[in-house]
Amino acid sequence: MQEDQKPEANDLSRQRNSEAFPVLSEEHIRLIAEVGERRQFADGDDVWKIGLPMTSFFVVVRGAVEVFQISGTGEEHQVVMHQPGEFTGDIDLLSSSATVVGARAHGETETIEVSADRLRRLVVENSELSDIILAAFLARRQELLAAGRGSLTIVGSRFSPDTFRIREFLERNSRPFEWIDLESDAGVSRLLEGFGVGPEDTPIVIDSNGVVTHNPTIEQMAECFGLSRFDEGQIYDVIVVGAGPAGLAAAVYAASEGLDVLIVDAIAPGGQASTSSKIENYLGFPTGITGRELAQRAFVQATKFGAEVAAPREVVGLDVSYRPYTLETGGGQSARGRTVVISTGAKYRRLPLENAGDYEGRGIYFGATYMEARMCGQQDVVIVGGGNSAGQAAVFLSQHARHVYVAIRSESLEHSMSKYLIHRIEASPAITLLPHTEITGLFGEGALEAIELTDNRTQESRRTDIRHAFIFIGATPNTEWLPSEIALDDRGFIRTGRDLEPSDLAPDAWLTTRQPYLLETSAPGVFAAGDVRSGSTKRVASAVGEGSIAVSFIHQVLAE
Ligand SMILES: Cc1cc2nc3c(=O)[nH]c(=O)nc-3n(C[C@H](O)[C@H](O)[C@H](O)COP(=O)(O)OP(=O)(O)OC[C@H]3O[C@@H](n4cnc5c(N)ncnc54)[C@H](O)[C@@H]3O)c2cc1C
Repeated sequence: MQEDQKPEANDLSRQRNSEAFPVLSEEHIRLIAEVGERRQFADGDDVWKIGLPMTSFFVVVRGAVEVFQISGTGEEHQVVMHQPGEFTGDIDLLSSSATVVGARAHGETETIEVSADRLRRLVVENSELSDIILAAFLARRQELLAAGRGSLTIVGSRFSPDTFRIREFLERNSRPFEWIDLESDAGVSRLLEGFGVGPEDTPIVIDSNGVVTHNPTIEQMAECFGLSRFDEGQIYDVIVVGAGPAGLAAAVYAASEGLDVLIVDAIAPGGQASTSSKIENYLGFPTGITGRELAQRAFVQATKFGAEVAAPREVVGLDVSYRPYTLETGGGQSARGRTVVISTGAKYRRLPLENAGDYEGRGIYFGATYMEARMCGQQDVVIVGGGNSAGQAAVFLSQHARHVYVAIRSESLEHSMSKYLIHRIEASPAITLLPHTEITGLFGEGALEAIELTDNRTQESRRTDIRHAFIFIGATPNTEWLPSEIALDDRGFIRTGRDLEPSDLAPDAWLTTRQPYLLETSAPGVFAAGDVRSGSTKRVASAVGEGSIAVSFIHQVLAE
């Protein structure tokens, strides 16, 4: 950067900082004081402890509150020292999940304490406070994630699929963490020795108390963060299955309109969109938005209105034989809802090669975000597929990889990719299109080391030393868990509304006298929205639109 540009960069960081750590006006503090209680802390008292659910919001009136992180290796970092007029908290406060930072009083300190429930009501009722507080919560989490530190330390090899699985879980759930790569970190042997473990025991996760967990499952981690809990005793007005754009939109609209909402996702909020490095065609974001940021914003919006989010938690069954409907989840728990929205989207197709599964997370990836980009460093990569997701990945990875090859089965991208992406690919010297090309072989011990590419006209094959392949070859619907009462089309997508056939609406199947609503499936009160629905347009905007439309019909079903 030029010397003369530096002041501008500093201004930007100051601006960003004031968004994350604003000072409230006297009027705002007065409004908060009306719903909160005064609480005093002596110097050094814990305001809250790392790892416990965050249940209160504090405005500093006198003294100061220091917020800090402690890594698994015991290092403490100050995140911020909140001064009078500033407030504590981040997105964990809205979802009551375990905190990733701790806080202690600095000097004799007086605060106004507001419970998480009361805070939620306050931000719904007061849009000015909502703007300030929610923008700060989002910006704080972004800063923590960008810092690459956290109250968890992972030690594992970049070639280990388990390390990839743990990192992916934490990234997709916006949990900040520190990763020590077994392959390249100079101090790693000493660190492992200190914890009494060898390289063969990795990956390990070390928490801020120094407790080591060997290769934890996703369920263990979710439990530890309090991410996947819900109230089994409650009958929800609506249960949304799948927290991609369609499900999150349904949850936001339903919760904002006063319904009791539970939204459940097998992995994390965000869906397919959160694996996108940049979404540029979603209305209102002229410079694009990363899938992760869009997911995080939608998650905050849903929890602000009181929707309960349980993720990761897979739904494995739906009983529509009596109402309220029952959803069975992995782990044996069930949830009951008067209505259901199915927004489980689609999963990526795998390469049709026997050993493709061996390299997932070790050279084969289905998303292109900063996490994958970091894994390929300055090396060559190949992207397989000619759709928009492949195009986005090519443009994004061309800024991180040495060279990007895009392998497509057809002659050109013209009929499968948006023009703006085709132009960028053509203009980039770092991207080469390989028409009529298919991957026919994958090789490597432990991790992907070479790929065989074949010209599908001449059948000529060549072996390349490319070690990273990104696969974007379409998707199949996540409907295998549904009961036979939910009618599917011949490709497994859910039929709704006018697409339902007379046999789906026979008196013994369709147990009501009215016709199905738009987006309603063959079970009354069960709706489908987004990519999982037969005939839907596979886009973020249409998924969001369908999720919100489903809610207007849910009100009508609930009024029946
Ligand atoms: C890399 C990539 C880039 C893209 N870029 C764009 C773009 O720029 N613009 C655009 O408009 N579209 C883009 N798309 C398409 C867009 O992301 C999808 O159309 C959109 O995400 C569909 O939303 P959805 O909510 O219907 O489903 P999904 O996003 O697929 O979400 C479904 C959710 O359901 C969950 N789920 C599945 N089964 C279960 C179960 N049994 N129990 C609980 N949860 C379950 C999944 O974990 C997932 O989170 C892109 C897609 C990809 C893959």
